[in-house]
Amino acid sequence: MTHTESPGYNWAGNLSYRAARLHRPETPDELRAIVAQSRKVHALGSRHSFSDVADCEADLVSLERMPHALTIDRERRTATVGAGITYAQLCPQLHRAGFALHNLASLPHISVAGAIATATHGSGDGNGNLATAVSAIELVTAEGDLVTLSRERDGERFDGAVVALGALGVVVRITLNLLPAFEVRQQVYRRLPMAQLEAHFDAIMSSAYSVSLFTDWQTDFVNQVWLKQRIGDPAPDAAGEFFGAVPATRPQHPIETLPAEPCTTQMGVTGPWYERLPHFRPDHVPSAGDELQSEYFVPRRFAVEAMRAVAELRAHIAPVLLISEVRTIAADRLWLSPCYDCACVGLHFTWKKDWPAVQRALPLVEAALAPFEPRPHWGKLFTLPPAQLQARYPRLAGFRALAHALDPQGKFRNAFVARYLFDEAN
Ligand SMILES: Cc1cc2nc3c(=O)[nH]c(=O)nc-3n(C[C@H](O)[C@H](O)[C@H](O)COP(=O)(O)OP(=O)(O)OC[C@H]3O[C@@H](n4cnc5c(N)ncnc54)[C@H](O)[C@@H]3O)c2cc1C
Repeated sequence: MTHTESPGYNWAGNLSYRAARLHRPETPDELRAIVAQSRKVHALGSRHSFSDVADCEADLVSLERMPHALTIDRERRTATVGAGITYAQLCPQLHRAGFALHNLASLPHISVAGAIATATHGSGDGNGNLATAVSAIELVTAEGDLVTLSRERDGERFDGAVVALGALGVVVRITLNLLPAFEVRQQVYRRLPMAQLEAHFDAIMSSAYSVSLFTDWQTDFVNQVWLKQRIGDPAPDAAGEFFGAVPATRPQHPIETLPAEPCTTQMGVTGPWYERLPHFRPDHVPSAGDELQSEYFVPRRFAVEAMRAVAELRAHIAPVLLISEVRTIAADRLWLSPCYDCACVGLHFTWKKDWPAVQRALPLVEAALAPFEPRPHWGKLFTLPPAQLQARYPRLAGFRALAHALDPQGKFRNAFVARYLFDEAN
């Protein structure tokens, strides 16, 4: 039986969804009927986006109550699963079956469909965003039809359909490419001299499977370096210095004034991939909890210049910034991915939950990064004008054509999609 209620707020509480109704169908047929009957409809994931990318004026649908049944094809090394499942629910099952995903975001609380729809990413020079693991999607399109698109059969069209902000339909099942299960050890270092980072950026970011830098930009040091090392890969000496940074003597939270309990195990203790690749544990509130977030992707070759540009803003952003994170992401072929055709560095900002102050800070950050033509994270907050953003997506025309073909009436075109992908005032 389908359940209808008012949709409430996103995770951060900065967005009250304006949708008239939230549906929680329990079967694919219920979902198909809701979509077919609705005038405007959009899929809602686990509500972790800060922007209104998941909102809609009429009907929201959540897949929380749909079956998440997992099927593993050992020969093809793929997992097919209900799209509303969270990584926290999925990953232990994959691990028990002897498999892994190539990467994870900082938190496992998010849904797989919601993460891939916005090109959510982790870190690691060789790691594409989480959407790059997708090899097929099954989606309910505007008339309630079930359409399957796969990398094998649909080629380029598939590249257009994976990162889609919910604008093509409601994804009900997803097939993900798997790796053999692996183990990871996480080591945190403190006070990396900025001069070392500038001189050795490539060596530092390639020194582990996944590398994150946390900084408040206030000194000539990066506060923390998190190295997530695959067991078996060559590793720096955990007891020694790392480019002038010193090993942490106890577990750290990226925001140093907060206790480290919500964070995944550090201090070099070996554990399964899904308990080390995220920064935060599934059973705790991730990050600060009371916060807003923004992130900008710039071509990796500009990493050092872009960081210098942000550091120059230190006095302006200090009052509103909790912490920044710098990560690297491999290039991909997904049309709406911020890393389309370009290896990137992601410059992330965890802000205090003070939208007027953040709204003043964002144009400063965007102006500082303008020479590097940043693409913002779809799920986080930004103030870049739509025309600038559109100019940075060379495959946007192809995406619009794909959306017209699958959704001719624009049923899935919410205000965010209309504004940023179709340049319609909304
Ligand atoms: C504490 C915190 C930490 C974060 N860390 C990271 C990080 O490390 N890396 C990173 O890149 N991002 C990060 N994010 C951002 C977050 O991962 C993205 O915003 C992600 O899209 C949220 O997924 P969700 O399941 O909550 O989806 P929602 O926010 O609910 O929706 C996001 C988009 O997915 C679409 N969608 C959801 N379900 C479906 C479906 N079934 N079919 C079609 N479309 C669908 C929605 O329509 C919407 O466009 C973080 C956010 C928080 C709050």
